[in-house]
Amino acid sequence: MHKMRKQPEIRNFQKKLTLLNEERTRHIFSLTQGEDMVLGLPLEVFRKCGKAGCKCNQGERHGPYPALSVNKGGKQKIVMVKKEDAATVIKQSKRYRYYQQTLAKIRRINKEIDQVLEQLKAAMTGSYP
Ligand SMILES: [Zn+2]
Repeated sequence: MHKMRKQPEIRNFQKKLTLLNEERTRHIFSLTQGEDMVLGLPLEVFRKCGKAGCKCNQGERHGPYPALSVNKGGKQKIVMVKKEDAATVIKQSKRYRYYQQTLAKIRRINKEIDQVLEQLKAAMTGSYP
């Protein structure tokens, strides 16, 4: 049968797949810790108060005030966070941001794994007769 196996190339693909799979597993485990999250990305807001003679009129705005940047139906919305909720809500939104970023990494790895599997298939497959 087919005896044209490209051994070094195949080993290289196998190594690559092992590394990608390990990296993906690490990311997945870091997402399965089950901590609560809140929808929205953490944001610091600076504001003008509008009072005449205040320093904020010279560009030195008040803040930072904790807020969330929330995507609602494709529109970006800023939601202010109450001072008493800030510690919890900001922590949860940072967790949400981390989750989103890690999910994006996992999706990139999935694509790469798919490509390498195709390359491995090509390296291992010959035609008959
Ligand atoms: Zn002011």
